[in-house]
Amino acid sequence: MGVSVNFTFATYKSTLETALLNGYQIIPVKDFFSETQPEKFVINRVDVDLKPEKATFFLDILQDLRVKATFFLRIHSPTYNLFEFSLINLIERMIRDGHEIGLHTELADLQGICNRNPESSLRKEIMIIEDYFGIKILGTSSHGDHTGYNNLSFWDNRKPDDFGLVYEAYDQTIFNACRYISDSEWTQWKSYEGGKLLENDRRTPSEHIEQDSPNRIYLLTHPDCYYRHHFHER
Ligand SMILES: [Zn+2]
Repeated sequence: MGVSVNFTFATYKSTLETALLNGYQIIPVKDFFSETQPEKFVINRVDVDLKPEKATFFLDILQDLRVKATFFLRIHSPTYNLFEFSLINLIERMIRDGHEIGLHTELADLQGICNRNPESSLRKEIMIIEDYFGIKILGTSSHGDHTGYNNLSFWDNRKPDDFGLVYEAYDQTIFNACRYISDSEWTQWKSYEGGKLLENDRRTPSEHIEQDSPNRIYLLTHPDCYYRHHFHER
């Protein structure tokens, strides 16, 4: 199986170009839940964990290729603030460019660390973003952290619909239906097929596309992991 240590922005761009060349439509997460789906697609999910300024490079690439993504943003990131001037401008560009904005949730962390009611917090967080940016939030994705809490556990006995949402990005309906390919280990890829981990499969998304060409790919990227030349650049 292939090994990749190349997380340059150019690689993100060439991944999307490879998908387009191979007949894939690149879609935001919400489109998976719409009534009609393309036959062959890459769901383009982007979780913004720590360095939102890096998402600017993603936006430039998406604009060049005229394709859309879903950007999941945190409210509780220790390293960014959605209402910082530069972030307001960045989020407004995301919206203007036609991308979907989702909420990257930390509901178990919030309850465990701050003793906040996770249900009312979720409602407030959705309302704050919707109201401030004049958009509708359709989905959440649970953020994974080193806190010892599993944020996805919030959804064990609740449904997105209870909160006016269409989906949670780890819903089995989407996760199990796709070849899920993620950079969430920062320096290497991992993938799941039908909800099952493909053991030791470190192939890049381009390799999955060129070698197996599965009809439904669910790509998760984190702009934090990417760079022009090296990991520590600013
Ligand atoms: Zn995250």
